[in-house]
Amino acid sequence: MPTVLWFRRDLRLADHPALVAAVEQARADGDEVVPLFVVDPRLWAVSGTPRLAYLAASLRALDASTGGRLVVRHGRPAEVVPALVREVGAPAVHVSAATEPYGRRRDAAVAAALGPVPLVASGSPYAVGPGLLRTGSGDPYRVFTPFRNAWLDHGWAPPAPRPRSVPWADVRGDGLPDAPATDVRLPAAGEAAARARWHAFVREDLETYRTDRDRPDLGTTSVMSPHLKYGEIHPRTMLADLAEAARGAGAPLADSVATYRSELAWREFHADVLWHVPTAAQESLRPVVPEDAWADGPAADAAFAAWAEGRTGYPVVDAAMRQLRAIGWMHNRMRMVTASFLVKDLHVRWQRGAAHFMAWLVDGDVPQNQLNWQWVAGTGRDAAPYFRVFNPVTQGRRFDPEGRYVRRWVPELRDVPTSAVHEPWTLGLAAPADYPPPMVDHAHERRVALADHARRTT
Ligand code: FAD
Repeated sequence: MPTVLWFRRDLRLADHPALVAAVEQARADGDEVVPLFVVDPRLWAVSGTPRLAYLAASLRALDASTGGRLVVRHGRPAEVVPALVREVGAPAVHVSAATEPYGRRRDAAVAAALGPVPLVASGSPYAVGPGLLRTGSGDPYRVFTPFRNAWLDHGWAPPAPRPRSVPWADVRGDGLPDAPATDVRLPAAGEAAARARWHAFVREDLETYRTDRDRPDLGTTSVMSPHLKYGEIHPRTMLADLAEAARGAGAPLADSVATYRSELAWREFHADVLWHVPTAAQESLRPVVPEDAWADGPAADAAFAAWAEGRTGYPVVDAAMRQLRAIGWMHNRMRMVTASFLVKDLHVRWQRGAAHFMAWLVDGDVPQNQLNWQWVAGTGRDAAPYFRVFNPVTQGRRFDPEGRYVRRWVPELRDVPTSAVHEPWTLGLAAPADYPPPMVDHAHERRVALADHARRTT
């Protein structure tokens, strides 16, 4: 009676409490572990092509690390999982807990369909499980900094030991899913790639992370987000390595470690917010402008298309939107600048921008994407104040001082002198003819956004 380990957002073998639990149960029963992945048509249909292509590659890597034993089944989990359990006579199904709205509903349905066979959850994709931390008065945290302090105080378990060997069962599956064709240049997927990327970052760029993390031109952030999204590495492993790196270290390494840990805390905060308020995936947590302030109709559609295709006439916005289409990833500061531009300069609802990001991002992740969009839009729990409107020119000058990022992604601006690279229209007739003029006047749209906000709050 082999036990089932159902992989979802945990495509790795190291630091995997559910795998440890499955192996323990199998050993106690003198039996094997069936490694299962379910291609769920609900999720497959709504995931962008870059993410599906990455997932297909990650599954290939996981299959290789199980010696080719990964059992892939296609269909609704509430049917497929109990069917496999009946087929092999499994006494239990082990999983890492799902914490997002769809995953929670799906698991409840699977648990009900399994009847007396338990769905056993060990661990989650987070260092501290969403929903665990509460304020002194027992409420969920609404503000990031107190959450992070409580998160640090709470701490987390050390990484779970990787089983020396796993008795994988030999069970027939439907075959690995094909990777859909895409022009997006994707990073290497899988647990080994995640570890290699992480170790390279710790070795080469961690020390300067605090000072350089906002610079899209340097390309020195960790780009661990796709690996974290699919659980090819657990944040607990990364936190343990960070603690090790900080041991006895002075500034700047110790400061950078604290900053990186804080970024991981944002990831946990958003998961916690969504745990308490599942509707935050779609609905604003706070309305910030009257409904009539949002742009709708053909003009809004045209403005949205110019933003999505990187033809706004604002160089950093266009560079970032083209980076997204080229590699399925965008630098964090640029995500903030482009999101702010859509919501506050073009007055388009954040949900529309969030959907576009989800279609293209290889790290596209409901809690991180939707809650970050809400943060920028000013509608979130711990929101950037609504009147914080990112100025695309000053952001460009500050964080891409030589214009290298812009020139990399916007070839029309390759020969523009640095002094004008973030505002090429100042060159007048000498501005590149094949690059559009700014589609809106930022100063004016900022005033409109603030006036809309004042209408709501007064
Ligand atoms: P690093 O700077 O190296 O940070 C390390 C890790 O910390 C990241 O991998 C990520 O897990 C976490 N982190 C960093 N910044 C944030 C943040 N603001 N919120 C939450 N976690 C963070 N991140 C996603 O993983 N998926 C998304 O779909 C996503 N959508 C976003 C949409 C918008 C509008 C914004 C403003 C941010 C979004 N982020 C998202 C957060 C952040 O931009 C990315 O996690 C980060 O750019 C990934 O690059 P990195 O791994 O090099 O980051």
